[in-house]
Amino acid sequence: MAPITIYRLDNTPPAELAANELKRCLSKMTGRPVKVWVASAYEPFMPGLWLGLLQDFGLRDDGGCEPDWDDAVHLRTDGDSGYIAGSNERSILLAAYRYLAELGCRWVRPGKTGEILPELGETLPEVEVQERASYRHRGVCIEGAVSWEHVRDMVEWLPKLGYNAYFIQFREAYNFFQRWYEHEGNPSYPRREFTVEEARDLTARLRAEITRRGLMLHLVGHGWTCEPFGIPGPGWFPHEGPLPRDAVQYLAEIDGKRELWGQIALNTNLCYGNPKTRQIITDAIVEYARENPEVDIIHFWLADGSNNQCECPLCRDERPSDLYVTMLNELDEKLTAANLETRIVFLAYVDLLWPPRKQRIHNPDRFLLMFAPITRSYSTAFTEVSPEGVKLPPYKRNKLKFPADPAVNLAFLKAWQKGFPGDGFDFDYHFMWDHFKDPGQFALAEVLHKDIRGLRDIGLNGFMSCQVQRIFFPTGLGMTVLGCTLWDRDLSLDDIAYDHLRASYGEGGEAVRKYLQRLSKLFHAKVIRGEASPEEVQAAIADWRKVPVAVDQAAAMVSEGLGLPVAAQAHSWKLLGEFGDLAKLMSAALVAKHTGSEAEAKQAALALVKWAQKAERRVHHVFDIFEFLLTIGGYLGLSREEMGIRR
Ligand SMILES: [Zn+2]
Repeated sequence: MAPITIYRLDNTPPAELAANELKRCLSKMTGRPVKVWVASAYEPFMPGLWLGLLQDFGLRDDGGCEPDWDDAVHLRTDGDSGYIAGSNERSILLAAYRYLAELGCRWVRPGKTGEILPELGETLPEVEVQERASYRHRGVCIEGAVSWEHVRDMVEWLPKLGYNAYFIQFREAYNFFQRWYEHEGNPSYPRREFTVEEARDLTARLRAEITRRGLMLHLVGHGWTCEPFGIPGPGWFPHEGPLPRDAVQYLAEIDGKRELWGQIALNTNLCYGNPKTRQIITDAIVEYARENPEVDIIHFWLADGSNNQCECPLCRDERPSDLYVTMLNELDEKLTAANLETRIVFLAYVDLLWPPRKQRIHNPDRFLLMFAPITRSYSTAFTEVSPEGVKLPPYKRNKLKFPADPAVNLAFLKAWQKGFPGDGFDFDYHFMWDHFKDPGQFALAEVLHKDIRGLRDIGLNGFMSCQVQRIFFPTGLGMTVLGCTLWDRDLSLDDIAYDHLRASYGEGGEAVRKYLQRLSKLFHAKVIRGEASPEEVQAAIADWRKVPVAVDQAAAMVSEGLGLPVAAQAHSWKLLGEFGDLAKLMSAALVAKHTGSEAEAKQAALALVKWAQKAERRVHHVFDIFEFLLTIGGYLGLSREEMGIRR
């Protein structure tokens, strides 16, 4: 059999990986040998698949974008010959995956269990694609509980779906790894102590996987308000031991006292009116930027608490956002003086939703505005509403009420944008907790799809999803909708869902769509969000009682699907079967909470917890049981102890 030849024109790690991935997949799909050569210039008459930057082929993207930041792919192949090109190194890898997807490859979930490579025969089809991503920022942020394998598989998976960024929170993501390795929420695993050094090691490996793919690397966010002052902030833990004596003067003064907010360093705001406080923080960020040149974007966030701003004479007449912007300008000057090009993310979040009155960002090119509407509801999309005519609620120091209404959230964004013309993105939480309330994921996918489509209209250039990493149970619908719509905002939800479910389940994909859509309706996420009227709660109770029948009706197709010859599809059916057990137990627990005695409610809730803990060994790669327990166990009234969560 004649070999397929790949000529690689680019020597960067993402291009090298792109060539290797093409080789791996093409040889499996065609049964033909695949050879990779490095070449210095494109020779159009030399047969082979040529891989490189747009300019290597005399191509350019006419979108007027910044090539380092914006991804575009051009593919033109005629069987064994042609080019696969990207606008930057990362885009070369995206182009390779885009080419493979055109050939029918699908990645329905991270890891080996999710890869589907069709058999092609010996002839490669013609491919012609010329696309530019709809949005610049298409990323996932670490959250939930994670093992090394979980995050590695996620980072491997992201570029296959067109994502281009990954955000590691904190310097070493300790809390997320700790939850997994100490098996928070699952006492059936052996107990062990997880150290910050281990987290540092895993984070270093993760950073290498991110940069190898050329993905934009975002880092830190949390911790600038405590660690530079000698107060550790590895997670949302109560502080142990005395505070460094010097540090206390920098804490926010509230009701006449300077102390940690609820004992938790990460949640504690500081006395930002004190220039020395600002200096310590901005020096720490500059030092970090200098020591970590491969970090593209550093997030500079204030405390994770709210209504806890300093009331001292230096601060009390200033809006927190004015002091924040003062600090951002001071940071920018220092970074410029140090010749550092690192970009800085600042955020509009809780108290900082109220925009500055006096200060303005001097160098918008340095910064990205991150809009983080954590208190929003996921019952409706942002972009279905208009902020026109919405009056911002007044700023009342430490007595703020945060908006659930998307229109008010948008009005805050608009107010910030008035003073900041630069780049920005949405930092949002659809898959942090909310997907557990809509186990079928269809209702949430619809809101997400609308949100993403509308980002451009609200002046945002992308999305960073603050989410559990294991969000593929029962399907990868949500993550597929997110990736595909960020790449091409004109894709319809129906088309994305059809393709994903067809790839995941084969011929049965359409039946699965109907089944999951029905479950989505029956679960009434609005009730679990606490947004429903008494009538809606009654309707939900009636529907929750119908869930077991719906699951039983699907049993026959599930057992048939288990026998499919494509391993990834058989695995999808297996997960769908497991999911039926969860749906039954969860619906029973919801009914018991709303109609049963306290003892009945507890018994039903604990049965669900027990199922989750037992199933974890089989479904941990797709389902974050720790966050599921926190969210749904919490709604059902269980304490952390009852769910085996220690810290
Ligand atoms: Zn103060």
